[in-house]
Amino acid sequence: MTKFFSVLICFLTLIGANAQTESQRAFRDALPDSRTNMSVALEDGQGNKSMLPIVILKGAEPGPTFTWLAGVHGSEYAPIIATQQLLDEIDPGQLKGTLVILPLLNDGAFYGREAYINPVDGVNLNNAFPGDANGSITQRIAHSVTENIIPVSDFFLDIHCGDAPEDLLPFVCYYVDENRPQQTGLAKRLSDGSGFEYSVACPFNIDYEEPAKYAFKQAAQDGKTALSIESGRLGLVEKEAVDLVKTGVYNMLDLMGMYAEGSGPHPELKLLADQIYIDSTVQGIFYSDLKAGDRVLEGQEVGYTTDAFGRRLETYHAPKAGTVLYMLATPPINVEDTVMCISTKTLKN
Ligand SMILES: [Zn+2]
Repeated sequence: MTKFFSVLICFLTLIGANAQTESQRAFRDALPDSRTNMSVALEDGQGNKSMLPIVILKGAEPGPTFTWLAGVHGSEYAPIIATQQLLDEIDPGQLKGTLVILPLLNDGAFYGREAYINPVDGVNLNNAFPGDANGSITQRIAHSVTENIIPVSDFFLDIHCGDAPEDLLPFVCYYVDENRPQQTGLAKRLSDGSGFEYSVACPFNIDYEEPAKYAFKQAAQDGKTALSIESGRLGLVEKEAVDLVKTGVYNMLDLMGMYAEGSGPHPELKLLADQIYIDSTVQGIFYSDLKAGDRVLEGQEVGYTTDAFGRRLETYHAPKAGTVLYMLATPPINVEDTVMCISTKTLKN
C-alpha cells in the first residue's frame, strides 16, 4: 500500500535562494514509498511570476535518483501528456530509488501557447541554462533547475518533441563526452535500450565553463548521465508519440534496476550520428515535399522559400546524404530558422 503525501509548498522569492532550500529539503526528507507534490513560486524583478510543479516519488527501496523534465518548450504536448500518465501509473511501492519529475517546466509558454519562447519575457528556456538567479523569469526557472534539481540527480532526462511548426522522427539522444566515458557509456546504454528505433549520438562540443544553453547539456556539463527523448510533433497529442515517451522512460528505469516495466530495446535499433543543419537566411513562405524520416541524397533539393508574391527567394539542398531527423513543416519561415536537421551517419550496432 502506498502512503500518499501531498505537500503544497508555495513561497515567493526574488532571488531563488529559498526555493533551493525548500525543494532540496523536500527531496532529502521524503519518506520511503511516498509521493510529494510541490509548487515552487518564482518571481523576477519585474513582477513576472512562474509556478514550478515538482513531484518527488520516493521508492520503497533505496536506489539512484532519476529526474525528468517535460515542457521546456510550451507547445511540446506529447511529453507533457505522457508525463501526466506516468505520474498516474508509477507506484512508488514498486520503485527502487527516487524519481524527481518536473511535469510542466515553462508555464508561461504553455498557457501562452508559444512554441519557442516564454511570452512573459521573450526568452527561450532551451537557450537559458545555466540561468540567472537575478535574471528574468525564464532565466530564474533555468537557474532553479541548475541549482536545485540537477545536483540531486544521478540521471537527467529532458523530454522534448518537434515544436508546433516541426515534423520529427522520434529518437533518443545523448552527448558523447570523451572526458567522461562512464557517463557517456551509461547514457548510450539507456538510449540504445530505450525501445526507440533511433539512438542518436551528439558531440559534447563546449567546454565546462561555457553556458550549456540546454537543460540536459547543463546536466551533462555538471557530470550527470544525461539524455533527451524526442517524440511528438506539430503541436499534436498523438497516442503513438505519447506511448513512445512512456516506453522510453520505462525502459530506462528498467535498465537502471529501478522499475520493472520495461519492454526491451527496439528490434531494429539504428544508431545515428553526425547531424547537419540547414538554416534559412530569408523570411518568407516555406515549401517542402519531404517529411521527417525521409532519406535524402547529397545535393538533393529539400525545400524552398518564396516571398508573398510567390517569387522564389531561397532553395535548400542537402549538403550530404542522410535521414531527416526533424524539419520545418509549416509555411512561415524566418531568418536563421532551422529548415532541417539531417543525420548523415549510421553506425554499426
Ligand atoms: Zn523542445
